[in-house]
Amino acid sequence: MAQYQTEAILLAVRDWGDSDKLVTLFSREHGKINAVAYGARRPKNRMAGSLQLFSYVELVLLQGNKLDTIRQCDVKTSFRTLREDLSQMAYGVFILELVDELWPDRQPETAVFDLLLLVLGVLQKRNPRLVALAAAWQMLKLAGFQPVLHQCVRCGCPLHFPAKFDSEAGGGVCLVCGKPNEVDFAEEEADFLQKLLLLNWDAIELFTVKGKVMMETERKLIDYLLCRLERHLRSLDFIRKVAY
Ligand SMILES: [Zn+2]
Repeated sequence: MAQYQTEAILLAVRDWGDSDKLVTLFSREHGKINAVAYGARRPKNRMAGSLQLFSYVELVLLQGNKLDTIRQCDVKTSFRTLREDLSQMAYGVFILELVDELWPDRQPETAVFDLLLLVLGVLQKRNPRLVALAAAWQMLKLAGFQPVLHQCVRCGCPLHFPAKFDSEAGGGVCLVCGKPNEVDFAEEEADFLQKLLLLNWDAIELFTVKGKVMMETERKLIDYLLCRLERHLRSLDFIRKVAY
């Protein structure tokens, strides 16, 4: 079996057997990987403290049929406060779960890895609710699900506001095509969403947003995710419990 080295971020960590850990990693070179760390829950094991949720690590792995085996693990950045601050943790876990859901195993996605690494860093410093919202829309864009904001998704005409929004179809709908009972889509929301999609994580500009616009954009995200993933993310319940 081949041994290989990679950088990765820990998306999920579970106890396994009597003393082992089962982890889901997002690696820079190979995308999502499931791996086992034998003996990692024994106090004297060198990997005991390093395989933690959010950690950015350098790994040596042995390739297996279904599961790879972690041979060595060195922490590059621990992102410790993400595990200590409940609000940061809730929004952080949401981003990890989203990445885990959006990409299949062993599909190399360097841009996703790089974005995830930047997002985890910014999550420790900025309003985690806003960071998670921007990160989630950008992850959707990288997965090929960018929402259409300035065109009607049904007839293709340029969108004039106020308009409607169809999560299933993937964006704004003009009033000619839209039905009165469909969700409203205001110009402020389209501008805000556009800003989130283009957010530069290396140099985030300060900007303010009205509470209503923020809440509407979150609500659309939740609907949008439900249409794309066809299931409710567990981490959204966690956010509701701890972050409000
Ligand atoms: Zn239309």
